Amino acid sequence: ITALYGPVNSLSIAIGTSVVISSRSKRLFEILDSQEFVTDNPSAIAPSGIFGQVQFENVDFGYGLQNEGKRTLRNINLTVPAGQTVAIVGPTGAGKSSLISLLSRFYDPWKGRITLDGQDLRDLPLPFLRENVALVLQEPFLFPMTIAENIGFGNPDATPDEIRAAAQAAQAHDFIVRLPQGYDTVITETGTSLSGGERQRISLARAFLKQAPILILDEPTSALDALTEAKVFAALNSMTFGKTVFIITHRLSAIKHADLIITLKDGAIVESGTHQNLLATGNTYAQMYNHQQIA
Ligand code: ADP
Repeated sequence: ITALYGPVNSLSIAIGTSVVISSRSKRLFEILDSQEFVTDNPSAIAPSGIFGQVQFENVDFGYGLQNEGKRTLRNINLTVPAGQTVAIVGPTGAGKSSLISLLSRFYDPWKGRITLDGQDLRDLPLPFLRENVALVLQEPFLFPMTIAENIGFGNPDATPDEIRAAAQAAQAHDFIVRLPQGYDTVITETGTSLSGGERQRISLARAFLKQAPILILDEPTSALDALTEAKVFAALNSMTFGKTVFIITHRLSAIKHADLIITLKDGAIVESGTHQNLLATGNTYAQMYNHQQIA
């Protein structure tokens, strides 16, 4: 199943929608498995470990072939030191999800390169890269397995206590234990129907448990109520210590303490800095932030 994980997520990103689990899943997996947008470089060698410094160097990207499709990302230059948190903000369609999808290498840039600890992502084995990246998507992918298995996915040695601790941090434990089968509840399309917010929290618990040095969060709380969202963000602060984090969120008050905030517009970085820096400029970020304060 590990082999399926990447492609499943890549399609989920590619089509921008959730992948529905159903009796057709097996067929779906077969289709997804044949869908790879990037290929593993046969001479790629896995380093013994990674620190987590990420750099985008003059990156241009578009869906489809270069010079044929529309350019979605323009000349992206971004350096994120290991262990820092970068928040990506900007209007819908600006290219935020596209930018982070390059980081898991669901696609490769048209131009420029992305490095991890100085090494081009294309020179790292794909499974190695994906093992070191934990991903929480807006519309998470859940497997037709039990909730415990979904949380422990990618972490076969996880104990029930660890699974429960991750679920607690993700504010998922309480609703899980209220289900008749609790952690043993099998997630199916027709049987147990979980709400979007519940699915998001299971996906967050999985990411917390994975302990990957790089964590990517794409609107991880979009389906949560304000109180649960605040609790998840509080947990994120402690769970992400020492990790390199990329977070996309519209909730600007939650990213005030990010090491770096970048604003994307029409595929380009139009401003970057800390919350204080950006507020002082009075530009896009400051306007969005001030608008949310009075909204
Ligand atoms: P954001 O996350 O900021 O809302 P996206 O990265 O999702 O922005 O989208 C940026 C642009 O790329 C949009 O014009 C969107 O329509 C386009 N796009 C996103 N995903 C795909 C895809 N799989 N194929 C073609 N175009 C896409």
